[in-house]
Amino acid sequence: MDLYDVCIIGGGASGLAAAASLDGSADVCILEKNEKCARKLLATGGGRCNITNIHAPGKEETITFFKSLGLFLHHDEDGRYYPYSNQAADVAEILLSAVSKKNTKVYTGFSAGSVRYDAADGGKFFVSDGEKTIASRRLILATGGKSYPQFGTSGDGFRIAKSLGHTVKRVYPVLAPVECADMPELAGIRARGRVKLYKDGQEIDSSEGEIQFTKTGLSGICIFDLTLNIKAEEGEDPRSAMKRFEIGMDLAPDITAGELEGRGSSFGIVTGRLAAVVPPEKLKDFRLRVSGVGGWKNAQCTAGGVSLEEVDTDTMESRLIPGLYFTGEVLDIQYKCGGFNLQNAWSTAMKAARDINSKSEIR
Ligand SMILES: Cc1cc2nc3c(=O)[nH]c(=O)nc-3n(C[C@H](O)[C@H](O)[C@H](O)COP(=O)(O)OP(=O)(O)OC[C@H]3O[C@@H](n4cnc5c(N)ncnc54)[C@H](O)[C@@H]3O)c2cc1C
Repeated sequence: MDLYDVCIIGGGASGLAAAASLDGSADVCILEKNEKCARKLLATGGGRCNITNIHAPGKEETITFFKSLGLFLHHDEDGRYYPYSNQAADVAEILLSAVSKKNTKVYTGFSAGSVRYDAADGGKFFVSDGEKTIASRRLILATGGKSYPQFGTSGDGFRIAKSLGHTVKRVYPVLAPVECADMPELAGIRARGRVKLYKDGQEIDSSEGEIQFTKTGLSGICIFDLTLNIKAEEGEDPRSAMKRFEIGMDLAPDITAGELEGRGSSFGIVTGRLAAVVPPEKLKDFRLRVSGVGGWKNAQCTAGGVSLEEVDTDTMESRLIPGLYFTGEVLDIQYKCGGFNLQNAWSTAMKAARDINSKSEIR
């Protein structure tokens, strides 16, 4: 049986960043379910990879980390950082090259099915895909969440964390399109506006940007951001909980209500098909009731996950099992769009690696 100092389950953003941040003195392996690492990373930021954000805590460390690997970043007027080349593929390549320079063994096509922990002899983890077993002194669970299962993230990490005794907070899809009434006549329309989220009639969140009308509802980054707050309470039926939410749109954000008074039509402010549905008196507050949030296949992020109460968030080490670490989206950490979720992947990975590097003497 192969024995490593550190085994990382998941060759995505945080798994690769953790391997690249280890000091090279340990025997390290990555177990990746797909035939290639970093599949999701390639799709991030519309293929450009929005690495971090000017407002994200920890962004300086991320910029320094990537610079040390040879990758320069730049940010746009909204504060979103991208690789200088605007290619997500370059981010993946630079991480994989750093991992390979450290002689990390990468097992692709290895789907970790079960993990057993044996506390004897300083503690060891045994990871099996049903055929092969890999043993390690330390384990980093970097499996991501449940969103975009087409990229390999189908929630395995939650099952593994539970099997090791960890609490997993209820997971639900976020940063996804919102289902409202069927409105095929509006499909494809894009409008700039402000959006507000109402729960039981009370405003609880807001955002602004491009609103995209789809056949079944609304999409666009400003809508995605609202989904972080469209959720059922503990024990509440998720489907019926949705009915408590409404999205209100200001489709004329730079025009005052006074300027709209006496107008016969919304055409000229919004496009004809939208004007046919939204009269002028509703332009500043056009409301649609929510019926659901797009499923896992369309959600860019998973909310919920491994409870932070059982993890030391300075080192990402489990408070229950020494030598077990959690990084990235498997944790109960979720942010709005703009580079914040990848920032979480990088910073949790670097914290875990730092802690492991500092303990090299007890390997
Ligand atoms: C389309 C899309 C666009 C996005 N764009 C952005 C963006 O621009 N900026 C941003 O901040 N965030 C973005 N996100 C979110 C961001 O990609 C994730 O938050 C981030 O990748 C999470 O990193 P991670 O390491 O936790 O998991 P991932 O990067 O998802 O990696 C997890 C890896 O673990 C592997 N794995 C899972 N289970 C097993 C198993 N049992 N055995 C072995 N391997 C396993 C998976 O195959 C995967 O490769 C986007 C998400 C999507 C879906």
